[in-house]
Amino acid sequence: MTRRTDGGMPPGFAELVGQDAVVGELRTAAAAETPSHAWLLTGPPGSGRSNAARAFAAALNCEAEDPWERGCGTCRSCRLVEAGSHPSVSLISTENVTYRIEDVRALVSTAQDRPQGSRRRVIVVEDADRMTERATNVLLKAVEEPPPHTVWVLCAPSPADVLVTIRSRCRQVSLRIPPVDAVAELLQARDGVDAEQAALAARASQSHIGVARRLARDPEVRRRREEVVTLPLRVRRASDAVQAAGRLVGMTKEDADSAAEARLVEEQASLRRSLGLDPEEKVPPKLRSQFKRLEEDHTRRAKRAVADALDRSLIDLTAVFRDVLSLKLRADGELINEHLRAELTDYAEAISAEKALECLDAISQARMRIGQNVPPLLAMEALMTRFLPTVRPAPAGGPGGRG
Ligand SMILES: [Zn+2]
Repeated sequence: MTRRTDGGMPPGFAELVGQDAVVGELRTAAAAETPSHAWLLTGPPGSGRSNAARAFAAALNCEAEDPWERGCGTCRSCRLVEAGSHPSVSLISTENVTYRIEDVRALVSTAQDRPQGSRRRVIVVEDADRMTERATNVLLKAVEEPPPHTVWVLCAPSPADVLVTIRSRCRQVSLRIPPVDAVAELLQARDGVDAEQAALAARASQSHIGVARRLARDPEVRRRREEVVTLPLRVRRASDAVQAAGRLVGMTKEDADSAAEARLVEEQASLRRSLGLDPEEKVPPKLRSQFKRLEEDHTRRAKRAVADALDRSLIDLTAVFRDVLSLKLRADGELINEHLRAELTDYAEAISAEKALECLDAISQARMRIGQNVPPLLAMEALMTRFLPTVRPAPAGGPGGRG
């Protein structure tokens, strides 16, 4: 298989579109004899934070002879990292709300091990912002004085999401939101998406690479987004608001649950195999706690998946009102939802700028409330109600007047 290379850029890094400064810094470190031992990679969701961390992890152990070729994508080590099965590279992410303290202890102990058949042990924590203060304190010492062969790569949306004690011990690298054109080009080059679809997905995702890819490739994902972004146009009465909230939350839950359920069944089967139990065999009492823990993880995961998916819908709704405001201001340039220009123009004429700003405010409140574990249905109902058209005072002359 041949890999796409970009003017000599190692393949892992070539996918980091619009991040030349970061790529330069990581490649220089990977080529160095002794790179910094703790890194904090930050960048907004979708900027390619996890991809950057993986590319860096691969480059740190790449077997290419020329240090500037590190991250070659073809050597044994690069391929193992890409498959997530390199014995000395741990790629950690949590699907739970936060990391458990015992997970972090296990990581710290892994960090002490010598690398197996490679230069370095690399530990990538993809969402270091999901560590509680207690967990962070366990990590602190390990990050401060790791063994010489170990490199920590912590990722978070912004430096402020990580405790200052950790932050100050890491070399910080920030990714930016990539330009829409660069995301569209990536979708065409890597995923074979046609130019028009790629441009549409890149714009609609607001340059979130992962979301853009799902939008470009899956018509069902596009249909869902369409339903979400046209909600404010359709909510006319209080009963519409309640119904819309119910539908949105229901749809999101169903999706998240079925994905989580499939995963639980898989994990239970694999735990049975590792404990030497037959598929139908009753679980002996002394092993039950392990199965119970899987189920607890499952419940937490499903809940987080719903919150994450709703947050994405709320980001899409934010885009609608940003479009409405740029239409009201007669700003030039493309809308995020350019394909809905006609509908949004009508809508922008029907509501005031104040109303659009109020809606934006209501959306950010809803995002915050869902982040704070307010029941999703409650938060979404409150939001949808704010989309209702503002009732204008009845014209003088009372009910007899023509409306
Ligand atoms: Zn390599």
